[in-house]
Amino acid sequence: MEKILVIIIGAILIIIIYYLGYLLALRIKKKEHEQKKRVQVCPRCGSTKWQMSGLWTAPFGPPHHMCSECGYQGIFAEVDKEKKEDFKKKVRKK
Ligand SMILES: [Zn+2]
Repeated sequence: MEKILVIIIGAILIIIIYYLGYLLALRIKKKEHEQKKRVQVCPRCGSTKWQMSGLWTAPFGPPHHMCSECGYQGIFAEVDKEKKEDFKKKVRKK
């Protein structure tokens, strides 16, 4: 009888620990998201509208960003949200 009690208490403790871990993970994720005030910007036209491309060809190469405005494919520049407009101006001057 005691063994069953120990197992039940142990199971409850494990669930509580898992739940706390889950809550902590959620909190960290939210914080990371808030801190990440950076956006992916097209280096060719300065657009922030893009979509993932190459998802279906993943076995042949990693998926990459594709600009919805100019069709640029490749590495996008990562810029602070506040500096997004500055980047756009710079790109347009080129
Ligand atoms: Zn573009």
